[in-house]
Amino acid sequence: MNAPVLRPEIAALLAVEQPPRYDGLTPENCGTAIDHFMAAARQTLEQVVAADTPNTWAAVMAPLTSATEQLSRTWSAVHHLNGVMDSPEWRDLTNGKLEAVTTFWSDLAQDERLFAKMKQVAKSADVVGHAAREQALAHALRDFKLGGAELPADQKPVFAKQSTRLAQLSQKFSEQLLDSTNASVVTLSDESRLDGLPEHVVAAAKAEADKRGVAGYVLTLQQPSLVPTLQFARDRALREELYGLQARRASELAAEGPGHDNTPVMGEILALRQRQARLLGFGSSAELSLASKMADSPQQVIDFLKDLARRARPSAEQDLAELRAFAAKELGIADLQPWDVSYASEQLRQARYNFSEDEVRQYFQLPNVLNGLFGLVKRLFGVQIQPASQQAQSAIWHPDVQLFAVYRDSRCIGHLFLDLYARSTKRGGAWMDDSRGRRINGQQLQTPVALLTCNFAAPTGENPTTLSHDDVITLFHEFGHGLHHLLTEVDELEVSGINGVEWDAVELPSQFMENFCWEWSNLQAMTAHTKTGKSLPRALFDKMVAARNFQSGLFMLRQIEFSLFDILIHQTTADLADLNTEDTDAVLAAGQRIMQILNAVRDEVAVLKPPAFNRFAQSFSHIFAGGYAAGYYSYKWAEVLSADAYAAFEEVGEQAYDQVGARFLAEILSRGGSRPAMASFKAFRGREPSIEPLLRHNGLAQAA
Ligand SMILES: [Zn+2]
Repeated sequence: MNAPVLRPEIAALLAVEQPPRYDGLTPENCGTAIDHFMAAARQTLEQVVAADTPNTWAAVMAPLTSATEQLSRTWSAVHHLNGVMDSPEWRDLTNGKLEAVTTFWSDLAQDERLFAKMKQVAKSADVVGHAAREQALAHALRDFKLGGAELPADQKPVFAKQSTRLAQLSQKFSEQLLDSTNASVVTLSDESRLDGLPEHVVAAAKAEADKRGVAGYVLTLQQPSLVPTLQFARDRALREELYGLQARRASELAAEGPGHDNTPVMGEILALRQRQARLLGFGSSAELSLASKMADSPQQVIDFLKDLARRARPSAEQDLAELRAFAAKELGIADLQPWDVSYASEQLRQARYNFSEDEVRQYFQLPNVLNGLFGLVKRLFGVQIQPASQQAQSAIWHPDVQLFAVYRDSRCIGHLFLDLYARSTKRGGAWMDDSRGRRINGQQLQTPVALLTCNFAAPTGENPTTLSHDDVITLFHEFGHGLHHLLTEVDELEVSGINGVEWDAVELPSQFMENFCWEWSNLQAMTAHTKTGKSLPRALFDKMVAARNFQSGLFMLRQIEFSLFDILIHQTTADLADLNTEDTDAVLAAGQRIMQILNAVRDEVAVLKPPAFNRFAQSFSHIFAGGYAAGYYSYKWAEVLSADAYAAFEEVGEQAYDQVGARFLAEILSRGGSRPAMASFKAFRGREPSIEPLLRHNGLAQAA
């Protein structure tokens, strides 16, 4: 093959021992590398499936993983940069290569020769008795079936075409949402309309106006602007305006017009998912989704969610009644509306617990929080996290990014990139991505590398970056995913770290870590007031704890609403498999049917119904553009696991955290996907998970 010489920038990204370098990547060199790696991987595929290639792990799996990993790491870097440094060039590359890359994976997933070869490899002497390899092959053979490997020959190209189209639709969903989010801003010349907003939000609104070259203040629909405005702005009309803009995003009602409407995109996505499920012999796409998850059936999930809803409902109704009474009596709001809920809740919280989130924020300076987090991780799991060398630090894609090295027994076991501030070029939310997974690569140990992305407000001028307590929880959450990825001791990439972990168990380590944001000694260690340098006062902490379960019933019901909506649209629309996706009216009608299901779920679950113009589904990226389709319930599912796991720490007390931490590391974190999540959980806890700790932590135990 006339392989183009691999550019040094790509070789630096694909380093095995050094941390990967992102600073030299361009759409051009990534594009060339992707083409090259696809061709090389196809060639390797031909070699490993050849009749005279021995049916062993060493001869088949190891070389194929090495070849496909180069492609997946490069593609994942493109996807990452597209998500955090969005530009027309990265978008063009992503869209331009999407079909070829999806086709590559789909071809691989349907290659009958490889399927047959792997069935033989599963019996090989270098697999049998090797738990990680056995599990990796079991997953691969299952995924072959789910990927259409057993489909009749005439159906395979149909299935592959659907997969490509689904990937394009997900990308379109994200782009339209981002464009719609950026299309609307509120420009204010009168500062008094910002009454009630924290100083850092006002400063950011001023900076945004300066950046845009306009006078006054600019509020955007990005989280650091939107959330505090809805929470603190006294100006009811301003809250209503911003709420209306965000609730109509990416829909036919969007302020900029219907050009970014995701409704037909959703309809087509769902129809194609149902069509693929039917082709594979499943009753619905929810059934297909659960085939590789910890939960047994859609009905088990629906029952689980409805049981939780039943237990949370009385408390949620009481929460709402209290809020309405307070808003009427103290705020002069007789008809509480959705754009008042966040504001009125904050006012009630302050009245009842006498502290504001902004007051709390002054204690959480980002560098101190990070040090506290690293100290906790050292205490629990015996690992040290330190800034990487100056040379490695330059490997970043944006000046805001920091690189850390992870050490155990003074041996470097992995690296972690932190990209924490919101930018207009960054996708919203917070997430952990893997840049590189652990494996034995030939004779070398390849250490894992994690990418942690958040959207905290960037520091403005002289002000240090401060975090709300919710931000701190978000950081700990994503860090939990990072620990799962970084502390693995599995040597096979297919099941190391978070690879191969069931979707509905993947949130266990992340939600587990959130609990430590509620421990006094831990918060002491990570707080320093921006002006006085003092750590969080005990009295304020006590108020935060008292407020912890404030409106927990309402919150629980909201999560259940999203989860139930997600599982039901994938379980109850199997007939959409027959939809003619060329028929634009039919596709739009399917999208509208999704909204009808959402409305029915709201009728059943929500205690405060959103207004008719609310188009939440059109911005629900998790299930239309992320991997959470028929899987959003996994947050609640994993919360049961994580609350019960944390209860094991509560039972022994802080002096024995290191011992329980060592067991959590040995039985759960280090195991990755090398065995079923239920087996790992039982090995740690000595029994099956219990729902009671979750209800107790949420103050809902009595409601049962
Ligand atoms: Zn998570």
